[in-house]
Amino acid sequence: MFDYVIVGAGSAGCVLASRLSEDPDVQVLLLEAGPPDTKENVHVPLGYLKLAGTDVDWDYHSAPERECNGRRIQLPRGKVLGGSSSVNAMVYIRGNRRDYDDWGLSGWSSADLLPYFIKAEDNERGASRWHGVGGPLPVSESRSRNVMASAFVDAGVEAGLARNDDFNGDEQDGVGLYQVTQREGMRASAAVAYLHPAMERPNLTVMPYMLAERVLFEGTRAVGVQASQLGQPQEFRAQREVILCGGAYNSPQLLMLSGIGPAEHLTLREVEVLLDQPAVGENLSEHAAAQLVWTTPEEESLLLALEPAALEEYEATRTGPFASNLAEAGGFARVGPGASAPDVQFHLAPVHIVDDGMSDPEGHGVWVSPCLLTPQSRGSVRLASSDPTAKPLVRNEFYTAGDDMQRMIAALRLTLDICGQAAMRPYCAEPFNTPDGDTDDALRAHIARTTFAIYHPVGTCRMGDDADAVLDSQLRVNGLESLRVVDASVMPVVPRGNTNAPTIAIAERAADLIRHGRALAEPFEAAAGASPSRQPAAA
Ligand SMILES: Cc1cc2nc3c(=O)[nH]c(=O)nc-3n(C[C@H](O)[C@H](O)[C@H](O)COP(=O)(O)OP(=O)(O)OC[C@H]3O[C@@H](n4cnc5c(N)ncnc54)[C@H](O)[C@@H]3O)c2cc1C
Repeated sequence: MFDYVIVGAGSAGCVLASRLSEDPDVQVLLLEAGPPDTKENVHVPLGYLKLAGTDVDWDYHSAPERECNGRRIQLPRGKVLGGSSSVNAMVYIRGNRRDYDDWGLSGWSSADLLPYFIKAEDNERGASRWHGVGGPLPVSESRSRNVMASAFVDAGVEAGLARNDDFNGDEQDGVGLYQVTQREGMRASAAVAYLHPAMERPNLTVMPYMLAERVLFEGTRAVGVQASQLGQPQEFRAQREVILCGGAYNSPQLLMLSGIGPAEHLTLREVEVLLDQPAVGENLSEHAAAQLVWTTPEEESLLLALEPAALEEYEATRTGPFASNLAEAGGFARVGPGASAPDVQFHLAPVHIVDDGMSDPEGHGVWVSPCLLTPQSRGSVRLASSDPTAKPLVRNEFYTAGDDMQRMIAALRLTLDICGQAAMRPYCAEPFNTPDGDTDDALRAHIARTTFAIYHPVGTCRMGDDADAVLDSQLRVNGLESLRVVDASVMPVVPRGNTNAPTIAIAERAADLIRHGRALAEPFEAAAGASPSRQPAAA
């Protein structure tokens, strides 16, 4: 018997397990389907390149994507302590303040969330108006500093974009080097940052290899979780709450397996309906990204990691190729007509990526990717079967709504412009995977051929003030008692940027809501006495 049963030890689950167990009078249970985070490739930054398709990856694929030549797109997701924060690219981005303000939800504006971004943060640049020190989550400069990363920034400036040293500061627009969630050249997953320091608490129990199969109810009140470990069924009772932190694919899947979802679909899958909630699994909001790859005679790429000197360097100083998060540089720009904030983000990886990273590079090269930050297209998550071990059906529906394709074409043109500038020319020497021409048709064909999902799915258990939302703005499942969802799935719309830091800030605020019934942090304006015009661009 526990007070709280948390399902999923990912970015959000680790924050909640740590914050809720700060109260020694409550018993917290954290269930995780995957193994402990003992693999070296989880902790050495570059190592995550070798994790896709292993036992720490759920290894999902989308349904055939209509506007992408019917391709099934790879959807990696962490299945391990730390969840996707144990396998991600470590880019630290909060999003743009407009994202949260546009949600229009009481308690979730940029001013409400900024104190939680800061509370979480331990930024090696020190404390400032926008940044925190002393929080659990280390944020630092990359210790790889590949020359192609700086070249991309210089090329962006040559192409007319601003140089930006802090995308989470005054302005989000511009090009620069990303800060990363690392400490001293090692990955700082949510497990490393939040869970490991709390593991010894007598009131926190962590169970890896434990797959939650459905939520247990008495009437409409959630009272526990049915799970299995290595095929052995188990039940856990929650006196106060069950909290789902399974991520944007698995939380809606678990709700549906528990009878909460679109009634017609559940009946089709032979799941008994507890609550007809059509919004569960709908509204999947994700960043579609295209790819460009060149080869170069310059021997500067991360292929140097294969040289013995690279390992020696990493072991001695935790610097060099092994410290790379891959996506070392990038930035934000506006391509849509009249865009009031960035609608495109760039990621540059100083390596020759072949086969979506599933094959080893044969030579030196560079990979550059624009992604669409404000997609109008929405996808869905559905059950493929009532078997809890079956993979869910994920449809991204990329480029099926609004002007998403037109804006991606413009984004690709801008990326090609940057890569054609003097600073990038030595590295973009020979086209390897680039469009056949500059016409809209050629660019569209390239986008259809190379689009991938850049790992930021949200929205499938969206919170809202409206009766149709899955969750209320306290993240409680509407129509039921003692059941919350806290993870990336709760965001109504994907923010402009990478989603780990936003998920952690949401979980920090949720911990206050669960423990105290209200957010304890004062909104930013009240705390800093700032006028709205001085609010941060990022959160
Ligand atoms: C390859 C990759 C690269 C990325 N790069 C970046 C980046 O550079 N920067 C950034 O900000 N974001 C990045 N992201 C996105 C970011 O990591 C996620 O948005 C964030 O981690 C989501 O957190 P979450 O808590 O919602 O889910 P997750 O962290 O995915 O956690 C869900 C957890 O629940 C567990 N679980 C699921 N179902 C069950 C069940 N039935 N029973 C028990 N346990 C279960 C899972 O195993 C997992 O541990 C990346 C993601 C990926 C996959």
